[in-house]
Amino acid sequence: MSHDPAAATSPSETASADATASFGFRDVPLTEKQHLVDDVFHKVASRYDVMNDAMSGGLHRLWKDAMVAKLSPPKLGRRPYEVLDMAGGTGDIAFRIVEKSEKKARVTVSDINASMLGVGRERAEKRGLSANLDFVEANAEELPFESNRFDAYTIAFGIRNVPRIDKALREAYRVLKPGGRLLVLEFSAVTVPGLDKIYDAFSFHLIPLMGKAIAGDAEPYRYLVESIRKFPPQEKFAAMIRDAGFARVDYTNFTGGIAALHSGWKI
Ligand code: SAM
Repeated sequence: MSHDPAAATSPSETASADATASFGFRDVPLTEKQHLVDDVFHKVASRYDVMNDAMSGGLHRLWKDAMVAKLSPPKLGRRPYEVLDMAGGTGDIAFRIVEKSEKKARVTVSDINASMLGVGRERAEKRGLSANLDFVEANAEELPFESNRFDAYTIAFGIRNVPRIDKALREAYRVLKPGGRLLVLEFSAVTVPGLDKIYDAFSFHLIPLMGKAIAGDAEPYRYLVESIRKFPPQEKFAAMIRDAGFARVDYTNFTGGIAALHSGWKI
């Protein structure tokens, strides 16, 4: 019997009306989390890229470069290499994939938030990359794409915002071709003794202050920091990826575990 993770039902889907999800350090009704997350990204969209550089001191660029290096999109082939960059926001991962493939890859940038995608479209235009990109507004939990379509599914700093992570992972599995690859870049658990204290002080004190100074609002950045702490650590998240049906699951820590890149294959 073939294993069809997409057909499986998780506890979160059958959960009662009073099921909750974490929105930062707060528990909120599961059905409300997405609206709250959407508010955050509508608010930050126009300052999103500048804040990413400020908050990470540019490190996010290196992590994203490493993700795309690991994907290694082919530069040759009879047909375009098709990637779904989910929660693709303002396009950072998609642009890198198109450039790395020397414009052989075709990337669908999909995000639930029209404001983030709007910024992405403008940036793509300015960089001359629009011909290789499609922008599709969609929820990672219910993708409007046929099964077995994509060669790769990437998601960077997106999955922790999705209320039902298990559902999103099963959708990733469904839309990938057999032999397709999943890559998830996400903030993770710090593994270097001592770094955790410095990182906490920086995250909880400086990042909201930067948000206030640069983007005019500290609150969305408090959510971003808190949501990182609520995301499952490396091994637990790897187990969730396996539960969705992926094989050969592994991960690489970046910068002492501040971020981690998880990989899995649909075989
Ligand atoms: N991938 C981009 C990057 O690395 O710069 C953007 C990451 S941003 C921190 C998180 C993105 O996740 C936002 O654009 C947000 O709208 C998107 N998002 C949140 N929930 C989502 C969902 N259920 N489905 C699709 N996208 C979602």
